[in-house]
Amino acid sequence: MTQPPARAEIVVDLDAIAANTAVLRERVGRPLMAVVKADGYGHGLVPAARAVLAGGADSLGVAVLGEALALRAAGVTAPLLAWLHAPGTDFAAALAADVEVSVNAEWGLDEVLAAVRATGRPARVHLCADTGLSREGASPADWPGLVTAAARAHADGEVAVVGLWSHMAYADAPTHPTIGAQVRVFEEAVALARGAGLTDARLHLANSAATIALPETWYDFVRPGVALYGLDPLGGDAADHGLRPAMTVRAAVALTKRVPAGAGVSYGHTYTTQAETTLALVPVGYADGVPRAAGNRAPVLAGGARRTIAGRVCMDQFVLDVGDATIAAGDEVVLWGAGDRGEPTAQDWADAVDTIHYELVTRVGGRFSRRYV
Ligand code: PLP
Repeated sequence: MTQPPARAEIVVDLDAIAANTAVLRERVGRPLMAVVKADGYGHGLVPAARAVLAGGADSLGVAVLGEALALRAAGVTAPLLAWLHAPGTDFAAALAADVEVSVNAEWGLDEVLAAVRATGRPARVHLCADTGLSREGASPADWPGLVTAAARAHADGEVAVVGLWSHMAYADAPTHPTIGAQVRVFEEAVALARGAGLTDARLHLANSAATIALPETWYDFVRPGVALYGLDPLGGDAADHGLRPAMTVRAAVALTKRVPAGAGVSYGHTYTTQAETTLALVPVGYADGVPRAAGNRAPVLAGGARRTIAGRVCMDQFVLDVGDATIAAGDEVVLWGAGDRGEPTAQDWADAVDTIHYELVTRVGGRFSRRYV
């Protein structure tokens, strides 16, 4: 029988992360940059990085420089790209740590060049094109200027432009018309950069959904995140893609009590018991990343059955109505996991609270302890 958690823990299956990486790597048959930003999507930055590398990832991708430096400080030596930088970013630290950086605009390139001149170290740079997401990247209007400046710095040997990339708006809807449109804009952006002399830069566009569903976006390497952690970016069953969820979120019941029919439960009494029943108190709440919206909506596994949270989720705790089941303090409650023990999955929670599993796994934390298996 599974041991109950001391209070509340996130159990991370590192073999699942490695196996998921291997599945995706095998599927695309080309290099894979594993995205481990946001603390490895809530699974732990350094353990997740080591697991994806064990599974065959060729390089790592993160959003901000601090994440890249934390990986280097932990001794991770794999090629590493950080792509989102505000003005004033310490690019000298990026160069010293051999971190590749992306630029969205000429001012970003200027800041990188200033760091190159200050340190005497050349930079490895990726240029990001906005091909229709209207988020990061130079717009088609700004792209020629960025490419011209970058090609000059590349020819001068101050930077090596090693990547040209973009990000998709609708990869999780594989027949959406914006996909073809983004691919066309990307290829125009690439043609312009190639024409300016950036002939060696490698191309990357595919997130998890595109890695699974859109081979035309794979280019020189793919850049998946969420699928590495066993979550289906298309909102379905990860097992259909040979992926296994790596995160289990569990807690121990802190208290049980019998209450009569008509008892109002938790703040605002949004749940009322229908009959005499047992209530079980679960000692995790929204301060631990359990969404407040889960009250009266999200399922958990407790006492061998799925039960919906009764009443509001509080800062530190929530309540279950377990009827006449024999559940005692110390018994296990699983919020979400792989689903193979009857427990809900992160996708079930996402459906219940009207969000995406990305948000759930990256926000759960707080006072949960993390355990790696
Ligand atoms: N590339 C970029 C630029 C991203 O921002 C992300 C995540 O949001 C990814 C790749 C990975 O996306 P996903 O987790 O959907 O695979």
